[in-house]
Amino acid sequence: MATHEYEVVIVGAGPAGMCAGLYAGRSMLRAVVLERGFPGGELLNTEVIEDYIGFEHVLGHDLAAKFQGHAEKFGAEIRTSTPVQQVEKRADGLFETTVESGDVYLSPTVIVTAGGTPIKLEVPGEITYAGKGVSYCAICDGAFYRGHTIMVVGGGDAACEEADFLTRYAEKVFLVHRRDSFRASKIVQQRVFANPKIEVVFDTVVDEIVGADGLMTHARIRHTGTGAASDLVATGIFIFVGFTPNTGILRGHFAHDASGYLITDSNMQTSIPGLFAAGDVRAQLTRQVTTAVGDATTAAIAVEKFLTARKSGSPAPQPQPMLVPGRG
Ligand SMILES: Cc1cc2nc3c(=O)[nH]c(=O)nc-3n(C[C@H](O)[C@H](O)[C@H](O)COP(=O)(O)OP(=O)(O)OC[C@H]3O[C@@H](n4cnc5c(N)ncnc54)[C@H](O)[C@@H]3O)c2cc1C
Repeated sequence: MATHEYEVVIVGAGPAGMCAGLYAGRSMLRAVVLERGFPGGELLNTEVIEDYIGFEHVLGHDLAAKFQGHAEKFGAEIRTSTPVQQVEKRADGLFETTVESGDVYLSPTVIVTAGGTPIKLEVPGEITYAGKGVSYCAICDGAFYRGHTIMVVGGGDAACEEADFLTRYAEKVFLVHRRDSFRASKIVQQRVFANPKIEVVFDTVVDEIVGADGLMTHARIRHTGTGAASDLVATGIFIFVGFTPNTGILRGHFAHDASGYLITDSNMQTSIPGLFAAGDVRAQLTRQVTTAVGDATTAAIAVEKFLTARKSGSPAPQPQPMLVPGRG
């Protein structure tokens, strides 16, 4: 077990982590990016990206490789296969970041860019048809379903809002929910019920996602009351049954919203001085590659200012009053 000292430790090498690494490297900070797997984050689960400005059509893997190459060129040190187990602020003000091997990283600042994990239905076909009918992001993938019949699964705000949003593209949207009413706020529900392109299917669960020639063709569904099974023909299924931000590594009290996302100020500083957050792990209106890299740019520059103030003996910038966005 070894102890490593850095000026900033960045947790996670998705778009946010690699961008923070790039800016930290350019600022000549001693920075390390700790990644549990391979660099890329959710880009590695995304077939094609069409809404990252400057790239009309880019494969998720290719964009991830470009991010990595660019970040490393500017001095980011990315350590792969290094899962972070916990981040804790010590009494002396330094953060202790412990990784699975038992190694410890000491630093006055940490940027958490650990993203989050969409909750899966855990049914057969979900992995097979991921990116080939199965999606967890309406903004990202909705445009691929222009004129199609698709389905949305879930009963909260996200499912209802995204079902409504998806009718911009889809000819018909089945909104499938396992209960007999939605959890979504009343105004969002009203929009769903008023939308002629949405057909609500209550008391129903998805048992299997089925396809042919590598693309989804239908879902096997079941009524929870009668147990009757049937096929729902749809070329896409958007799953919105929850998203878990990866904040389990953080020790101590930190401000978060009702869904567990980290609340930051406009400099991306959390309620713990010196602890910054960027990307999908942060409470904000939307979660995209553009927002992740934007957050990361701000966080890395704010870290540089925090460290400069700390070195000069002047008070480090403290977290400012937090703004909680409308939706997590
Ligand atoms: C299926 C899908 C399609 C999408 N399509 C688009 C699209 O077309 N356009 C678009 O703009 N956005 C799209 N998005 C959203 C976009 O991918 C995310 O907003 C973006 O990847 C967020 O970047 P991030 O760095 O904050 O988090 P992530 O990409 O989630 O990266 C987090 C990284 O942290 C690592 N990590 C987590 N915990 C630990 C730990 N304990 N120790 C070490 N490492 C850890 C993870 O392994 C991961 O590499 C899509 C998302 C999904 C799920």
